[in-house]
Amino acid sequence: MARYRGSVCRLCRRERMKLYLKGDRCHSDKCAVNRREYPPGQHGQRRRMKHSDYGIQLREKQKAKRIYGVLEKQFRQYFEKADKAKGVTGENLLRFLEGRLDNIVFRLGFSASRKQARQLVLHGHVRVNDRKVNIPSYQVREGDVVAIKSSSQKLQAIKDSVETIVRSGVPTWLELDTDHFNGTIKAIPTREDLGGMIQDHLIVELYSK
Ligand code: SF4
Repeated sequence: MARYRGSVCRLCRRERMKLYLKGDRCHSDKCAVNRREYPPGQHGQRRRMKHSDYGIQLREKQKAKRIYGVLEKQFRQYFEKADKAKGVTGENLLRFLEGRLDNIVFRLGFSASRKQARQLVLHGHVRVNDRKVNIPSYQVREGDVVAIKSSSQKLQAIKDSVETIVRSGVPTWLELDTDHFNGTIKAIPTREDLGGMIQDHLIVELYSK
């Protein structure tokens, strides 16, 4: 399946919530979810249909895929790995998604969105433990140090993003060194660290049918 290249704001409107796919714009009055609180398309303004259990589970899975920018096949692979791993499948799934290198670059504030983070990784601006890694899905481990290549640290977009994250802060399981444009994975995120934006149990129910 091809990567989605349409308007990402439509994806948020489809899920009827902010998925924060566009950086600064998501926090402004220009956010499409604020301006049009109904799903996209010609039937978007019709009376809202009641979803079946399957429909609710499906929407949750779509939401997670859209937040992390993962396609169906890879998402399914994450689920299968999560199912085989020790512990709670839903939490494992979220940990695999959070552990993607593009997500870490975003969480550390080197980019305004995960999409931008993906570009930074693909274009070779990111190093892990002092080695170039250009695979957005690369799984980081506890103790890894993710850094912006020294010649890329002067890029204005990266500097602006770091300034923003200094104000809002990074997750507790990460440590950011703004002087050296790097961050350390201090710990594996706990369920509390993973937040409540995605109801992982619905995704587990969907794939367990
Ligand atoms: Fe979603 Fe951000 Fe667009 Fe708002 S501005 S609809 S949060 S991508």
